[in-house]
Amino acid sequence: MDDCIMIDNLVVFANHGVYKEEKTMGQRFVISMKLYADLYPAAKSDDLTKALNYAEICSFVTKFTQTHRCCLIEAAAVNIADALLKGYPAIDRVEITLKKPWAPIGLPLDQAAVHLTRSRHRAYIGIGSNLGDKKGYLDLAVRSLDEDENCIVRRVSDYIVTKPVGEVEQDDFLNGCIELDTLYTPHELLDRLHEIENAAGRTRDIHWGPRTLDLDILLYDSEMIHDETLTIPHPEMHKRTFVLEPLSQIAPFAKNPVLNKCAATLLERIKQQ
Ligand code: AMP
Repeated sequence: MDDCIMIDNLVVFANHGVYKEEKTMGQRFVISMKLYADLYPAAKSDDLTKALNYAEICSFVTKFTQTHRCCLIEAAAVNIADALLKGYPAIDRVEITLKKPWAPIGLPLDQAAVHLTRSRHRAYIGIGSNLGDKKGYLDLAVRSLDEDENCIVRRVSDYIVTKPVGEVEQDDFLNGCIELDTLYTPHELLDRLHEIENAAGRTRDIHWGPRTLDLDILLYDSEMIHDETLTIPHPEMHKRTFVLEPLSQIAPFAKNPVLNKCAATLLERIKQQ
């Protein structure tokens, strides 16, 4: 999506800065933004109620910048961008430049500035439980993500009963899949999922053993990540019917960027084996 609303050089008097004087006396900040969103509904209808109202957005940013103090302009800029993405679901991406023309460095300069981008990301989360109140645990995962200010749950699959994989003798699983829009980075999202698993009383006693709640990041945009803590796409997703069935139900064309195949095709492939 290339459509965007541009706001140039909004001047805000606020109190960001490392030094005491900056915090107490304040100074001028100058903010420019590109807000990426689909502008066609407003353009087609010529109707302000379908538009991102830039007057309202400028007031929002002014108030927010004055009431959320930071030491660094990086932090101030990221907070403004995130507040816009949280407050305006129609915005997909914010590009922001925050300038500090009066930076107190004892040398003549025009300005110090930061420029950064924040976006919503589309992630798919595999969810599973085979201990205790299985449906209750899956519902807890959905609710916890939905109530998280950095996430919007877009779709939830049906829950399906599946047979356990591996050698360990254990109860059947209940599995599902969540489509999520999130401001978290992949590692932040993994940490958040671990918190939710822990809140569900998850312990890690037996590898592949029974669990109250298991949350896996299957896909995150079209990113490919492999490090000590995280592999995305999830390395087992293409081998597991219990992952691909719920994923295909809500997002048949979600693509595994490593295999360059969509969920529906991967499911078809293992069904034929
Ligand atoms: P599990 O036993 O399924 O909860 O996974 C254990 C570990 O797998 C986690 O602590 C993660 O560090 C790691 N891991 C690697 N890739 C992923 C992923 N895509 N989603 C979730 N966990 C992952």
